[in-house]
This record gives sequence, C-alpha cells and structure tokens, in this order.
Amino acid sequence: MVLADLGRKLTEAVGSFTKSNVVDDKVLDGLLKEISTALLASDVNVKLVANLRKTIKAKVNLKDQPATVNKKKLIQKTLYDELVALVDPQVEPFKPKKNKSNIIMFVGLQGSGKTTTCTKLARYYEARGFKVGLVCADTFRAGAFDQLKQNAAKAGIPYFGSYTETDPVIVAQQGVTTFRKKRFEIIIVDTSGRHSQERELFDEMSQIQAAIKPDQTIMVLDSTIGQSAEMQAKAFKETANFGAIIVSKTDGTAAGGGAISAVAATGTPIAFMGTGEHLTDLEKFDPQRFVGRLLGMGDVQGLFEHVQNMKLENKDTMKHIQEGIFTVRDLRDQLTNIMKMGPLSKMAGMIPGLGQMTQGLDDEDGAMKLKRMLFICDSMNAAELDSDGKIFIEQPTRMTRIARGSGTSVREVEDVLTQHRVMAGMAKNMSKMKKSGAMGGPGG
Ligand code: GDP
Repeated sequence: MVLADLGRKLTEAVGSFTKSNVVDDKVLDGLLKEISTALLASDVNVKLVANLRKTIKAKVNLKDQPATVNKKKLIQKTLYDELVALVDPQVEPFKPKKNKSNIIMFVGLQGSGKTTTCTKLARYYEARGFKVGLVCADTFRAGAFDQLKQNAAKAGIPYFGSYTETDPVIVAQQGVTTFRKKRFEIIIVDTSGRHSQERELFDEMSQIQAAIKPDQTIMVLDSTIGQSAEMQAKAFKETANFGAIIVSKTDGTAAGGGAISAVAATGTPIAFMGTGEHLTDLEKFDPQRFVGRLLGMGDVQGLFEHVQNMKLENKDTMKHIQEGIFTVRDLRDQLTNIMKMGPLSKMAGMIPGLGQMTQGLDDEDGAMKLKRMLFICDSMNAAELDSDGKIFIEQPTRMTRIARGSGTSVREVEDVLTQHRVMAGMAKNMSKMKKSGAMGGPGG
C-alpha cells in the first residue's frame, strides 16, 4: 500500500532505536535522520520534514532532562505526537445530522477517483442508517452519468442525473431539490473533473457551490501523483474551499507523502482513504490510528470499522470490546472476517503484531499463515475458545494437543496465543479510553 514503504522504514528506525543501550544526542540525530530520509523518499515536503526534525529535537531537549526521565519513551512519544500533528490540522470533522438533508459536494481532477469515491461514501453512510442519494452533475465527460448510475445501482443507492441537460448547475440543483423533497438525509453531488486545473472547471465549481450550498465540500486527491498533490490541493482550496480531503488509491505502491503535504498546506483534514476499487474500500481516517499503523503499532479500531462496513457478523466482539473483554473465540471470529475481506497485505497492518508476523509474506503465503491460525483455533474446545487465554499457561499440555490436532507446531500455537494477548490488551485499553471519553463513537 501507499506509505507501506514509509511505515516499514519508520518501524525499522524506531525498532533499532529502542534496541540501543545509550540515548544521547548522537543516537537521537541518527533516528531523526533515518525518519527524515524516509519521509522525503515518500514525497513529503522538504520544509515540513525539516520542521518536524527541529521540533522533535527542541521538544525532547535531551541535555536538560533529569536522569529520572525515560528518554527513550520521551523520544518515541514526541515522534508519535509530531507525526500525528503533521496529518491532523485540528479541525472538527464533519458530522451529518439525522432528519436533515446534508449536502456533500465532491471536487477533484478527472481520474482522481471522484465518481468511485462518491459511491463509496454513499454506501458508507447508508450502512450507518442514513437515507442517501447520489447526483451526477458531471455533464462534461461523456459516460459520467452512466458510470455513476452503474456504481449506484450496484450499491443499491438511488441516483439522479440527466442525458439531455448540459448545464451542470441545473442538474445539481434539480438533483438536490428532488432528493430533498423526498427527505433524503445525505445528498452527494459528483461534479466534473477535467484533465487540468482550467479556469472553466473552477468557474463551474463555484457556480455549483453557490447554487446548492453544500454543507461539506470534499476534494478527492489521488495519492499516486506525488509532490504535485500539494499544489493541486492549494489551487482547489482557493476556489472551492473544501472542508475535507479523501485520499484515493492508497492501495497502490506510490510514495503517497504528497497527500500529507497537502493536508499541511491547506490546513484541511483527511476524512477518508480509498483503499481499492471495490465499493467497500473506504476507510475512515484518524490521525492517531494512522500514525500508530505507520509506526507498526496496529489499528484495531480501524479493523472493526472495516468489519462494520462489510456488514459482517461482529456483534459479540464489539460488545465484548466495549466491556474490555477479548476471548480466543473473538480472535478466531476476527481471523475469519479478515479471510473474507480480501488481500492480507491491506488488512494485516491494522492488527497489532500481525503486520510484523506476516511481513515479507506475499498475499498467498500470508493467507496460508492465517489459515493455519484458524486450524489452530478450530482444534480448541469451547472452554478454551471462550477463555482469556490463561488456561494455556496453567496447562501447557493443551498446546501440544492442539498442535497435534491442527497439524501445526506448538510454536505456531504459541504465536496464536501471543496474537490473542496483544489484541486482548488493546481491547482493554480501548474500553478504558471509551469509558474516560477519550475516543469518539462510530459514524460520521
Ligand atoms: P473520476 O474521473 O475522478 O470520477 O475517477 P473514477 O472514479 O472514474 O476513478 C478513476 C479510476 O481510479 C477508476 O479505474 C477507479 O476504479 C480507480 N480508483 C478509484 N479509487 C480507487 C482506489 O482507492 N484504489 C484503486 N486501486 N483504484 C481506485
């Protein structure tokens, strides 16, 4: 995935840093150098990187730290916070209101993934109980309406467009009025893209915006366009003053750091990331979880949201997690869900520990590894599955029996239980955070 390379390099840099015995300015400089090189190679803006380096150095301020301070922890925490700050412009995210027509207008260049993303977002809100309609106001590109129609029909979302009306402002207005009358709660308007930032495109955007007065304008930014993402976002911001960015095509192998620079340049948050061509390939963006994943810390919340998106059976696990419980059976259910969700390369990074376990494996080998983990769970009895895992520490012979029954090794059984322990720990933390109000609820 985009930024996978950056993630790997950052995880490696932090990994070798945590192994070092001394923590002094030289070691810190080494870490910052590696991190800067990785960010620059991912197309993050040079000035941003230089600033990040300076800020971390100043905030850590090793010289003036008393001996009692855990310097390693301090450095890691500062690095994490500053990376989060880089992708978090501290803007309150848009939350559509129920029982009201929320109008969302999409802008972006042709080919950026706008039409696909409109449908993905429509589906996202529909899955969360909103009545959603799609409007195609792209009268410029032949076939644009057909494409939206096809996507919308596939997702079962009502749509509006015209084969005869050539004025996009009129179509947008008609679409919004039609859906509003029928009390649709979210009306998503797709606009035309063109190939470059032409005057006419920007004029058209302004006119549509003035006519439909969107509650939220979203720019779709192709993550594969490198450093030009920043300039493109700036130009669109000047005309359309969008309130959120959706970064598309993050499943590719491009560097992707241009999108990070675009956030900083426009002070606009990333709302979602497009992670593939399918309609379910849309992930809510959360700066902390994103950086957590980049640094190899996993993203359990993201995983569960993805599961929710897929409308898979997940009720018991969600309930358990809210209570701070995570049984071996929960792990088994999650593994099964992951198998259903498509390429492992996309999912593994979300699960703490599993990203590292499957690193270097291609999708086929990774899937085989997951299958073996499932065989192991399937060789457990109900008491074992519903346990918190301690049962295996108290009676290790159970592991030998399971390894034999599943045709795997004791070592592999241990790996599954380690994986379970990591996730159970995360569930406990998430439950604590939820209780203390540090985490928002699901939805918009
Ligand atoms: P538009 O011209 O901006 O409306 O772009 P489209 O929605 O037609 O998308 C252009 C191409 O990008 C299509 O082939 C889409 O399938 C593809 N696309 C869109 N989003 C993603 C994504 O997140 N991942 C991948 N791999 N492809 C995407």
